[in-house]
Amino acid sequence: MSSQATASRSETSITHLRLFVGGAWSDGRGPRLTVVSPATGEVVATGPSATPAQVTRAIETAAHAFRSYAGVPLYERADLCHAVAAALRRRRDEAARDLAIEQGKPLAEARIEVTIAAEMFEAAGEDMKRLTGEVLPSADATRQIFVVREPIGVVGVVTPWNFPMTIPAEYLSACLAAGNTMVWKPASYTPVSAQHMAECFVEAGVPDGVLNLVLGPGSSVGEVLATHPTVTALGVTGSSATGETIARTAGMKRLLLELGGNGPAIVAEDADLRRAIPRIATGCFANAGQICDSTERILVHERLHDAVVDGLVEAARGVRLGASLAEDATMGPLNNEDTAAKVDRHLAEARRNGAHVLVGGGRAPDHATPLYYEPTVIDGVTADMLLNREETFGPLAPILTFASDEEAVALANDTDLGLVAGVFTRDIARANFYAQSLQAGIVNVNESPTYWQPHTPFGGYAGTRSGLGRLGGKHTIMELTQTKTVVVDIAP
Ligand code: NAD
Repeated sequence: MSSQATASRSETSITHLRLFVGGAWSDGRGPRLTVVSPATGEVVATGPSATPAQVTRAIETAAHAFRSYAGVPLYERADLCHAVAAALRRRRDEAARDLAIEQGKPLAEARIEVTIAAEMFEAAGEDMKRLTGEVLPSADATRQIFVVREPIGVVGVVTPWNFPMTIPAEYLSACLAAGNTMVWKPASYTPVSAQHMAECFVEAGVPDGVLNLVLGPGSSVGEVLATHPTVTALGVTGSSATGETIARTAGMKRLLLELGGNGPAIVAEDADLRRAIPRIATGCFANAGQICDSTERILVHERLHDAVVDGLVEAARGVRLGASLAEDATMGPLNNEDTAAKVDRHLAEARRNGAHVLVGGGRAPDHATPLYYEPTVIDGVTADMLLNREETFGPLAPILTFASDEEAVALANDTDLGLVAGVFTRDIARANFYAQSLQAGIVNVNESPTYWQPHTPFGGYAGTRSGLGRLGGKHTIMELTQTKTVVVDIAP
């Protein structure tokens, strides 16, 4: 299960962390940030974070830039999107290597991530060209009514470490296309990828002040963004707790919150297991389970229980755990100790209450850091366990059993998160029953909850803690622009 390749010394191409404000790179004046590779344990980059005063200055700079950028013709903004995409493609290998080193995922996945980020910029430029308004019927023959979309202003972008290129790209590409300016705070675990992204904006010739990058903790740098009155909208991807904190303090800002998930994969009694098992396994172990739409739990009809368990155990044994730069690794370490400790906690609670581990079950020995986690299959999980009720964010396949479709729906919905779900069935009526009954923003049929295409509307089900609004292609642009109704007296 363990890759033989040892973690060789890995250096990132960027080692000095800096802020990017008003088109210029500068040092922060706040506490020092240090990036340690989860794959090797080595310090790969360091630099001072931003002070609240520096964040305020970045916001003011973005507000100043907005006055001119909002007026840049849309085809020119689309060209800028394409130019950023081209810059990302040019530096794909270098940025992917750095991303793998600081985040921990295998290099092949990091390369795909940078490519998808480039595609998002290309798509945003084209989506913007096709965004239409409306001409409404008028009750009064002398009045014409137009509905147009306008940029929203300064957008504060706050992003996590699990996809340090694609998640920011979702917001930044939409803002660049729509005529907004941005102040971006990436996760402190993955600022090197953020610097690559900012350098792509420079190479693309994006006007000064349109993108501003500030580094530092959520509790100081993020808080200034969330509360500053000049920031008119916030795009935040992170945990539900963070999203709720921000929502409480943000006041009347437009909020686009993409938060935690606890996606169930439901294997109905007529499921095709040749499809279900490999797709579920990918959903559990991709990115070491650190995806908001990971397959977090597997609900299996009792008649298929043994076959699904056997299939998942085999799939877990086939995962090659190794350092991000090891060519043969299919799964890397977890990104950070807090995440690993939560996985430990959820597993320990399940074991204490009678669940049994069939393969894996803890930190993998003989690796460069304690963040390598064994791909784990755990059976006998019950509704009340943390593994079922909360997001775990690790490489686990927790198995629960059900006897009827109604019971499966009750189990699936027995969580305060409602981001994604997947159901495997050959029966169209049953598929329809699940699609209508599951409280999730996305329901995939004969796919795992993890299956995703970037242009589809992605976000939490109303009433759950998975977030507000929808990311994805034109949907992000709709969230980060505003509607204006223009009424014109056309009487001669
Ligand atoms: P996190 O909430 O700890 O941090 C996310 C970002 O928010 C970081 O940049 C952090 O510094 C910042 N932050 C924290 N507290 C803040 C505050 N009070 N004010 C402003 N900013 C603050 O999340 P994480 O551990 O980096 O990421 C993992 C979480 O993100 C998981 O819950 C995962 O499900 C979720 N996620 C959701 C999606 C989605 O699209 N729904 C996608 C990826 C990740």
